[in-house]
Amino acid sequence: MAEISTTRPARLTVLAGPTAVGKGTVSADVRDRYPQVWLSVSATTRSPRPGEVDGVHYLFVTPEEFDRMVESGEMLEWAVVHGRNRYGTPRRPVEEKLAAGVPVLLEIDLQGARQVREAVETSGLDARFVFLAPPSFDELVRRLVGRGTEDSEERERRLATARVELAAEKEFDVTIVNDDVHRATDALVAFMGVGSATSVVG
Ligand code: 5GP
Repeated sequence: MAEISTTRPARLTVLAGPTAVGKGTVSADVRDRYPQVWLSVSATTRSPRPGEVDGVHYLFVTPEEFDRMVESGEMLEWAVVHGRNRYGTPRRPVEEKLAAGVPVLLEIDLQGARQVREAVETSGLDARFVFLAPPSFDELVRRLVGRGTEDSEERERRLATARVELAAEKEFDVTIVNDDVHRATDALVAFMGVGSATSVVG
């Protein structure tokens, strides 16, 4: 009986996609069901929401501390998201986990994904890029516009953003449709080579 590897594990995987597609829900599901994947803990200048734990969901830092991390080169990537708060991936823990052979997942926005792509091109970092897509454009609009409390100008702005963000799909290695959270999560970890990286043949 021989064990063959069918997929070479992509150890650093970047999950990105349009606003409101459900990246946070999918990454929380990875955290719950696949502890063998290490989910990078981003630094952010936004305040914690109820239930969020410092060091688990985010590293909640002051704008000054965020500046310091950027200036000292501690961030693998960072971006201002939704024109408000800053979010970034501390480089060191990612590198340590990768060196230890642990698969790492970054759940970041599109701007951040592009920066990681640049790091791949310039520094030889090995990363794979997954685009999480909505089942349809209409469904994304429904999730974005939500309760319908936005005025028409805000609604148009969000629709324009959605179109631009969906057009980024072609920059990615693979697309996973988020029609069902568990299914999307399972597809993601299978792509990462976790749990299904090897098959046993007799
Ligand atoms: P939230 O504030 O709802 O937790 O996250 C808002 C957005 O920030 C999400 O789209 C998420 O993907 C993005 N985000 C979270 N962490 C990072 C990060 O480290 N870098 C970048 N570029 N985006 C992030």
